[in-house]
Amino acid sequence: MKIDLRSDTVTKPSKAMLDAMMQAKVGDDVFREDETVNQLEARIAKMFGKPNALFFPSGTMANQTALKLHTSPGDQVICDKYAHIYNYESGGASFNSGVSCKLIDGNRGMFTAEQVLEAINPDAYYYSPTRLVEIENTANRGGGSCWDFTEILKIRKVCDEKDLGFHLDGARIWNALIVKNETPKQYGEVFDTISVCFSKGLGCPVGSVLVGDEAIMKDALRIRKVFGGNMRQAGFLAAAGLYALDNNMDRLADDHKKTKEIGDALAKLSIIKTVEPIETNIVIFELNKDVNENGFIQKLKDRNINIIGMGTNKLRIVTHLDYTDAMHEKFIGVLKNLTF
Ligand SMILES: *Cc1c(COP(=O)(O)O)cnc(C)c1O
Repeated sequence: MKIDLRSDTVTKPSKAMLDAMMQAKVGDDVFREDETVNQLEARIAKMFGKPNALFFPSGTMANQTALKLHTSPGDQVICDKYAHIYNYESGGASFNSGVSCKLIDGNRGMFTAEQVLEAINPDAYYYSPTRLVEIENTANRGGGSCWDFTEILKIRKVCDEKDLGFHLDGARIWNALIVKNETPKQYGEVFDTISVCFSKGLGCPVGSVLVGDEAIMKDALRIRKVFGGNMRQAGFLAAAGLYALDNNMDRLADDHKKTKEIGDALAKLSIIKTVEPIETNIVIFELNKDVNENGFIQKLKDRNINIIGMGTNKLRIVTHLDYTDAMHEKFIGVLKNLTF
């Protein structure tokens, strides 16, 4: 039994999901004639209460398109120092949109409206114009942390006052919605654009959607084409998304429960310095200084358990749809008996 806890992206489509994909009604999406893509876009638009939605092959492309839609070259984007758009999109913000990021030193990937105010550049010609605030919920490198919605509302107010766009990287918004008992609509009301992923906790092989208001989404189709993201009979992929919305959403609570149990087991190990707060399906923990990170990873690998290092003696575990009860039992057992 191989246990892969490196990411919630390692899941493979289930038989039922594959069946749904195989039965999809498709057409040429470049002509906007793929029924299933259209259906997924309409469903996500409705869920978030936005007029416009567009299907993308990756979350990165959906985010990069949002950055392009909100900015002009030379502009500045405010985001957390842990932000995916800054750290894990290959420098795309500068490559694709010619923008720089003003990084906020947040707490587990989250920051306050006050910090946003401080990060906005003064209105003088020798500054880069601040154009957009971007947040991530859940915050990936923050350990799957969930924003306090009242803080999001405060940031919206700042954006209104300072005429800034507000984008949500909602690759794992599903996890936040389940944990905080929030609705997509309340996010739709606050953000100008939102990207969501189907290939994380929802267990699809491919797919993201960008939703937004008419005015800002006007050029989204063209930008997606410029980025090479136009697809043809993409309904086979969109069908997985529709299936996941119906079948894989509520079960996220299961991942969250397992992650907490893993956290409890880790906290009992004397070689571990800290386990960061666990809110969703991610746990980040730090080994004591005298414990070698790669040695720890290898020790688990020897027992067919795969986890990932984040540098500076921090490690990450992510639970998901393909992490079964049996695997969980085995992993907890291994942790209990781990010796150094
Ligand atoms: C995974 C992820 C994305 C999108 O990544 P892709 O690999 O391009 O799908 C975007 N933002 C966050 C926070 C993510 O975790």
